[in-house]
This record gives sequence, structure tokens and C-alpha cells, in this order.
Amino acid sequence: MRLATVMHQGRPRIGRVSDDARRIGLYEGEAALGLLPAIEAQARGTRWPEPVEDVALDPHALLAPLPRPRRNLFCVGRNYHAHAAELRDSVFKGSTAKVDAWPIVFTKVPETVIGPHAPVRLPGAAVSEQIDYEAELTVVIGRAGRNIARADALDHVFGYTIVNDVTARDVQMRHSQWDLGKSFDSFCPMGPWIVSADELAGQALRVRCFVNGELRQDASTSQFIFDIPTLIETCSRGITLLPGDIIATGTPAGVGMGMTPPRWLRAGDVVRAEVSGIGAIENRFVGEETPA
Ligand code: MG
Repeated sequence: MRLATVMHQGRPRIGRVSDDARRIGLYEGEAALGLLPAIEAQARGTRWPEPVEDVALDPHALLAPLPRPRRNLFCVGRNYHAHAAELRDSVFKGSTAKVDAWPIVFTKVPETVIGPHAPVRLPGAAVSEQIDYEAELTVVIGRAGRNIARADALDHVFGYTIVNDVTARDVQMRHSQWDLGKSFDSFCPMGPWIVSADELAGQALRVRCFVNGELRQDASTSQFIFDIPTLIETCSRGITLLPGDIIATGTPAGVGMGMTPPRWLRAGDVVRAEVSGIGAIENRFVGEETPA
């Protein structure tokens, strides 16, 4: 199933996207309350209902599948060797830990999340001029658990989506902790929908990112340093993961900061993040003064 949240006749609805992505079957009743309650209900054993209304899907009406996450947004900081190498002398400079010893995990403020085609707002030169993109496969937790063993981890996955982990590099590096530089308003485009884990495995998906049509990132999740079960095991050590928790799995090589000279995003740039088996999100970056 591909499950989406969409604006329909002035209110957000959830529904099941057709195979050709041209239609969406909208849910009513309890299932219409939002994707998070629906995921929680499914974790309790409730079966998905049948959609009640089939309508044309306007991609620009899509919201983030979890539009206002009430749960945590875990992000993995270094999960492809080539990305670790390209930022060795900047973001990862001074890191004494072995690259493959433990994952770097940080969080983004949940309010960063915006829809798959919504504009990303640049913060203005006084705040940061080093805005960068990071295309990432993203795991959505469906079943709660604490101290989840690697072997059981995939039983806790509801499905997969895409985020662009937009980052202000100067702010990221200034504060040691990355959270501020990762959490500017609108810095987490997400979508276009969640593909349920019974239809998609996360092990060998192609992750690509384009800036104004130019291919910048292109890798397979088979190249992960830490696979998805390991990430779930790590994030749940002493912490209860709950339905709706999100784990962005890290970005491949090819970010703007890794180039010589670095290439930062500017107003008017369009960034497209694609993951095979899921689809794509595409967001225009706009200036601080641009009306929403
Ligand atoms: Mg990232």
C-alpha cells in the first residue's frame, strides 16, 4: 500500500494511492483521522478499511504523510562511506570514533516537516548562507518497542518514505550538536507517501538527488554502513520507539558541501530527492522575503 495525506476540499484526508499514482482512495471514519492514528490502530491489529471515495490525485495537494509529526524525527549522520569521506575535513573533522563503530544519531525538530512539493524557506544571509540538501530513505516505525533486537527490528517497521534532510552547514558545525543547523523551519520535506513494508524492503533501493535537474547524489542503500535493523536496534536502546517515529537513514555522497568549491542552495533552486520503489519529492527553495 502507498498511503498518503492529501488536502481534499479544504481538509486533510488520508488515502491509498493507486499503482499509477493518478488516483487516491480516500478513507472515512476512524481511518480518516490521520495517518498516525491509523498506524497505531494497525499496530493494535485493526485491519485497513476499504477506501470510500476514489478521486484524482493532484501531486501538489499532497501533504507530508505525517504532516505534523507528534513523534521523534531521528536522523543518522554518517551512513555511507563515500559521504563520510567527502565531509572528512569539515563536518566530521575531529571525530575520533571509528566510522563503523556506532552510528551518529541526531534529531530534527518535528515542525520542520513540510509536504513533498512545498517550498523550503531559506533563512536569510544573516542566519546562514550554507544551505545544503541530503536525500534519504526514511523508516516509519509502526509497532512500539524498547531494546529491539536486530533480528526482530523489521517487525517494527510500518513502511518507508523519503526526506530531504536540509542542513545549514555553518550552523551545524558551529554548535557541536547538529540539531540547530538541521531544524530551521521547513527543513524537512517528506513524502510523497509511505510505502508499507509488506510491499517494499529497504535493503537495496537507489537513492538519488537532483538540483535543477543535475544529478548530485546516486547510491544504493545496500551501501549503508549501518543497515536498518542495526539503526532500529541502536535507536531503541533504552528508548521506547513508538508508532510514527521516523528514522532518516543518512545521505549518500554528493552533497553541496563536498564539492570544490562548495555549492550552496540559492533561492529558485529546485531539489528533487528520489528513492526507487517509493517515488520522489521535489521542492523549490525560496527567499526569506518570498510570500508563502
Ligand atoms: Mg542527513
